[in-house]
Amino acid sequence: MRRSLVAGNWKMHGTRQSVEALLAGLNQQDWPEQVDLMIAPPSLYIQQCRESLEGSQIRLAGQCCAYQAEFGALTGEISPAQLREAGCEYVIVGHSERRNLFDETDEVVCRKFAAALACGLRPVLCVGETRQQRDAGETAEVVGRQLQVVLESFGVGGLAQGVLAYEPVWAIGTGLTASPEQAQEVHAMIRARLAMLDDEQAQCVQIVYGGSVKADNAEALFAMPDIDGGLVGGASLNADEFGAIARAAGRA
Ligand code: PEP
Repeated sequence: MRRSLVAGNWKMHGTRQSVEALLAGLNQQDWPEQVDLMIAPPSLYIQQCRESLEGSQIRLAGQCCAYQAEFGALTGEISPAQLREAGCEYVIVGHSERRNLFDETDEVVCRKFAAALACGLRPVLCVGETRQQRDAGETAEVVGRQLQVVLESFGVGGLAQGVLAYEPVWAIGTGLTASPEQAQEVHAMIRARLAMLDDEQAQCVQIVYGGSVKADNAEALFAMPDIDGGLVGGASLNADEFGAIARAAGRA
């Protein structure tokens, strides 16, 4: 039986003051025990989050990491080892904003996945197609290609040590959520592909959906058999909304 994960990606939002208010709101929520919870704040605020969330079931994540596990001459980067020391348990890798705006290739994403695992972090590997690719009927091919490098290096067992996030690019930050059926179709396709390689491990992989998840669409998405929670961007900046999404996962 897979647990659900509800994860919040705060992206490049917040000030010390607004983070304090958001954390106060998060600390007032009634969290479902059976759901894994995680937030990925901007790195500068990880320590603030760690202190405020001490004793809470919310875990911390980096939004990205260097492809080198520990230390080195990589100006501006943060290593998985540093995230781990700061109290993170997860790190997002391969977010479409990193792929598209910072030219991260599948190979670079795979190196980051490897570096994260080497430091004991759970990488949250994001995959997903653009609108143009979906319209051209290329979703399975694109997602398959994004997964391939990691599968070749780590197998399904390696993937199961992390989390997979299906995030159609056209649904991120646009308000255009994939319908539960559209999302389930891709999640099931991914799991079937993994099962062809290793059925037992494939059933263990947490596959979360991301793309304009909100309190009012979360329940229907999470009710789908292969959707194991959500990676939430915009709505995670509102504590009550994020709390409601987590509780929807608790009812799934
Ligand atoms: C994201 O950035 O991963 C995301 C899913 O954003 P949003 O929920 O705002 O679409």
